Amino acid sequence: MTLDLSTPLQFLKGVGPRKAADLTRAGLVTVEDLFYRLPFRYEDRSRMQPIASLKPGAKAAVLGEIKSARLAVTRRRGFKIFNAVVGDASGAIRCTWMNQPFLADILQPHRSVVIFGDVNLDSTGLHFLNPEYELVTDDITGVHTGRIVPFYEKTGSVTPNMQRKLVRVAIDQLPAELPDILPASMRARLQLVPRRTAIADSHFPSNDAPVEQLNAFRTPAQRRMIFEEFFLFQIGHAWRRHATGIELKPFVPAVDDRVRAAAAKILPFRLTPGQRQAAKEIVDDMRRPQPMHRLLQGDVGAGKTIVALLAALVAMENGLQVAFMAPTEILAGQHFGNIARLLSQSRFRVDLLTGSTPGLKKHTLHAHIERGTTSLIVGTHALVQESIRFHKLGLVVIDEQHRFGVAQRAALRAKGLRPDVLLMTATPIPRTLALTDYSELDVSKIPDLPPGRTPVMTLVKPESRRDEIYQLLRDELDKGRQAYVIYPLVEGSEKIDLKSATEMADHLQAEIFPAYRVALLHGRMKADAKERIMSAFAAGHIHILVSTTVVEVGVDVPNASVMLVEHAERFGLSQLHQLRGRVGRGLWASYCVLLYQSPWTDEARERLKALASTTDGFAIAERDLELRGPGDFFGTRQSGLPKLRTGDLVRDRDIMEEAHREARSIVADGGLSAELLQFVQEKWQAQFGLIEVG
Ligand code: ADP
Ligand code: MG
Repeated sequence: MTLDLSTPLQFLKGVGPRKAADLTRAGLVTVEDLFYRLPFRYEDRSRMQPIASLKPGAKAAVLGEIKSARLAVTRRRGFKIFNAVVGDASGAIRCTWMNQPFLADILQPHRSVVIFGDVNLDSTGLHFLNPEYELVTDDITGVHTGRIVPFYEKTGSVTPNMQRKLVRVAIDQLPAELPDILPASMRARLQLVPRRTAIADSHFPSNDAPVEQLNAFRTPAQRRMIFEEFFLFQIGHAWRRHATGIELKPFVPAVDDRVRAAAAKILPFRLTPGQRQAAKEIVDDMRRPQPMHRLLQGDVGAGKTIVALLAALVAMENGLQVAFMAPTEILAGQHFGNIARLLSQSRFRVDLLTGSTPGLKKHTLHAHIERGTTSLIVGTHALVQESIRFHKLGLVVIDEQHRFGVAQRAALRAKGLRPDVLLMTATPIPRTLALTDYSELDVSKIPDLPPGRTPVMTLVKPESRRDEIYQLLRDELDKGRQAYVIYPLVEGSEKIDLKSATEMADHLQAEIFPAYRVALLHGRMKADAKERIMSAFAAGHIHILVSTTVVEVGVDVPNASVMLVEHAERFGLSQLHQLRGRVGRGLWASYCVLLYQSPWTDEARERLKALASTTDGFAIAERDLELRGPGDFFGTRQSGLPKLRTGDLVRDRDIMEEAHREARSIVADGGLSAELLQFVQEKWQAQFGLIEVG
């Protein structure tokens, strides 16, 4: 019997109803599901060594028989050691497993077994310590041993061995050729191997395949599998982008000399070349008939706000309204203060509307917005979701937002609005992630910082050096500077974390810095209380601000010169970078002190080391992605990343780039076949599982 990829697994030899149910539970329903779950690694078991030839210090595979086996109980309670002697025609070797007593039932005398692992030497001679093992039964030779062997993740009750065997059975029944959805000309140009070859060689490579290349997932077969997935994903994005490009916005701003002069008038300083370039790209977008959907990336302190304000001015000079949104009320308040100051000489009315605006005032503001007397409304991210009706909304700016912009755009659309949308973020988005979530966004970057910044000195210190750190803090306070002390607030332990932050604030005030004013700021406080403390800190009335991470984004207090992060080992790299960006905003030398508590993981050590070694936000974001993986990068579970079957966003970024280029150019050239488009429209959502918004 031959199979095609849609054949249900229950029709495979050896799959009864029970097993079929197990497979279904593990997400494996059709032959295609099975083939597109690639091994996670490969091991060369093609060359079994005679036991007599084994040398210490190298990995080796031997095929032999269990000669004897014994489960030993040690003096340590509950700790068991299982010893087995495995012999072949040339000799015998001892194998030892710690704390795996169940092996006594599996590795019984007279059974044939393959042992694979490191060969060790001690006073008792050569032995394998905790090696991998595999029982050899007649029907599985050439699947589990004697070749380059694929290893699969265990899913539910489907064991790696079971999966390996099934894949083998399925491949053997495949027809000589499989239909291929990838355009033939592209396949030829990129030298992609045929689909059947790709499947067979990804699972059961020939014995001369380079194992290192296999484990790097870069053999031609694997590359083709990964490319295929990424390409289909990117076609979906490219198509959506193309389709939304047809939409037109109701008001298209014009830019003439009058508008340029108005913009120049509000500028308090010369723009950096990066700011100028970004502003140009944004304004060019605004003059187009399609709604802008652009992300402005720039490191903390790069000066994104003024660029957004220039865009706002273009809209307002054209009689349009602007909504300017920030993630927290504190930040919204700060933006409002700055913007109102910069626009004080202009004829535009600027208002602030947040959750803590009193009801009556809110009511009046709504009316102003509806009538169009308010030109620029500053608020939190909820602004566009509320029941506000705009007179002529032309531009929405969403600050410090790298993820939810899509949702807000959807909310706007739902209200029948299609304004220009500008997202801003200081968390640079690593290129591969930019190619997934943000494939439909245009991106502008501000690569430079305004002149005159002094780089922040980053210190990584253990808890035991706390006194030294307090001395540094005291020196800075004595010079008239201010300091942040940040506590982590971790999901699940908020109560304890909040308690530590509170105790720390009390302790610092009463015992360490009685001469200075210490205050506590945290997310559970009422908005007006937060506001009060933040303004007091900004005005210099508070010297040390102990805070949970609510100061993370955006806040600007140039006189603060020390950022002390408690439990730095608990923070993500990008988050630490954000925190560090809160200091070094004035004329003084500043410090970012990362205080860690042992024990810390190797990963945490890597993270803090990476932060201390560079100040380049883009490099930090790439490193963060490598360390944490794409799922955790944004520190949010509803990450909106695609479900991938074969590709890995970190490992395979080069392939994603290539797929992105190919997909874009095919869609742009009108070379998208009806067949491919239909395939993507039908399968895209199910396959990649992204929530459709916008
Ligand atoms: P971010 O990109 O982090 O949002 P901001 O827009 O808050 O940065 O700008 C940081 C600080 O730099 C602000 O105090 C701002 O006034 C100042 N600034 C921005 N651009 C320039 C410039 N071209 N020259 C001098 N100072 C600037
Ligand atoms: Mg900002």
